[in-house]
Amino acid sequence: MEEGLIKRLMSSIKCEVCGQRYEVDDINVLGHQEDLWFLSALCPACHTRCLVAAVIREGKVPELITDLSKAELDRFRNAVQLTADEMLDMHNFLKDFDGDFSRLFSQR
Ligand SMILES: [Zn+2]
Repeated sequence: MEEGLIKRLMSSIKCEVCGQRYEVDDINVLGHQEDLWFLSALCPACHTRCLVAAVIREGKVPELITDLSKAELDRFRNAVQLTADEMLDMHNFLKDFDGDFSRLFSQR
């Protein structure tokens, strides 16, 4: 799965705050664990930052999950088989965000 494809997928969804569509350039791929991709999108209109997880499998309609809760992240983390390096990446990712997505969303 290529990042370009992931970004095109993301550009089909809208900002939950103002309804603006994301542009490809507004989307950052944070990383992925097999089929689970983590992305951040910065709304070009209202500058609200949004975290998105997408479960993407070949031949299936991608499942986008926004407004992740801590419990959901834990569920995904447990659902995927991780190497040590990937586990460290995910740990750092989760540590940085501290599971407090509402605070993250409120940052401008
Ligand atoms: Zn917006």
